[in-house]
Amino acid sequence: MRPFVHSGSPARIVFGRGARDGVKEEVERLGARRAVVLSTPQQRESAELLADDMGALGVGVIDRATMHTPVEVTAEALVEIEQLGADCVVALGGGSTTGLGKAIAARTGLPQVAVPTTYAGSEVTPILGETDNGMKTTRRGPEILPETVVYDPALTDSLPISLSVASGLNAMAHAAEGVYARDGSPIFTLMALEGLAALRDALRELTIDPADHDARDRALYGAWLCGTVLGGVGMSVHHKLCHTVGGALDLPHAQTHAILLPHTIGFVEETEPTVLAPVADLFGGSAGGGLHDFAVELGAPLRLSELGVTPEQLDRVADLALDAPYWSPRPLERDSIRRLLQHAYDGTRPE
Ligand code: NAD
Repeated sequence: MRPFVHSGSPARIVFGRGARDGVKEEVERLGARRAVVLSTPQQRESAELLADDMGALGVGVIDRATMHTPVEVTAEALVEIEQLGADCVVALGGGSTTGLGKAIAARTGLPQVAVPTTYAGSEVTPILGETDNGMKTTRRGPEILPETVVYDPALTDSLPISLSVASGLNAMAHAAEGVYARDGSPIFTLMALEGLAALRDALRELTIDPADHDARDRALYGAWLCGTVLGGVGMSVHHKLCHTVGGALDLPHAQTHAILLPHTIGFVEETEPTVLAPVADLFGGSAGGGLHDFAVELGAPLRLSELGVTPEQLDRVADLALDAPYWSPRPLERDSIRRLLQHAYDGTRPE
């Protein structure tokens, strides 16, 4: 058997429909008395409701969260935190809002309660990606990981089905890459396969009935598992290409992951079919082709061309991807990466 090292996450996870009502107790449990709720402008109303429900413990709402965690937004939020005398941040939202909470915690040491409303998985990772003048930097550290995550699937009932599908495929990408990670472990592999199966079934059911509560619950459960894998092991060619394409061309996060997933996994599967066999089993016998068929079935975005990418931009992305490549079980070469990007541009089925 392959030797391994496994480090589990120290975060406290509270999961269940209605769990949001326990956020106040979770804040108190962290020894905090003045919590500020973070959100995007679009989710301000839910954030205000949560702050109100916390009574005297909820001291305000900051609704400035936005994609890619710009440092100037964090600076403005820090001024408000100081004015409010807050001693805890509660991040209610998707990866963008979780990112703002992490950026604040990284600078102040304030404890965080994350209350996710998408399947992005950032809430269970010690990773913070920020942008400064358009440049993205990523850092890791124990102070970045939220202390507590409250998963309430009822908060995902409002997630539009197109975003549910894209965000769910984003989560599945964490798990698929976890299966071949260099620093993987048997526990992370179990979590990855369970997370993939839960999301596969739940997303299928949600495309038929987006209001299916049981499917919503299982989708968020799957997202937790997939996010935990992302937080525990190093990512590879898929995440590298998504960061490069998404960063260089300013593309939407979840949709970029959804489009590239069959192609990146198919790329690794060509040289590592045995390692990816358990994923292939979940998707009809082929990991790359099966994930493509699954994305078609769900009505997911399939082509980079749909996001406004041009063929000329693919050349630039292929060059950038090789500038500082992540470890990959299949070495990255300019020609094969350019071909992969072309297939993702055209939306062709990986063989
Ligand atoms: P997001 O947080 O930007 O949310 C997308 C939109 O959906 C926003 O307008 C938001 O208000 C809205 N929304 C969220 N939940 C909703 C709900 N339940 N109902 C209705 N509307 C809802 O998108 P995301 O895909 O969750 O996160 C993307 C960001 O997270 C990126 O910046 C990415 O880099 C980051 N991320 C970081 C990590 C990490 O480990 N550091 C992991 C995954 C994603």
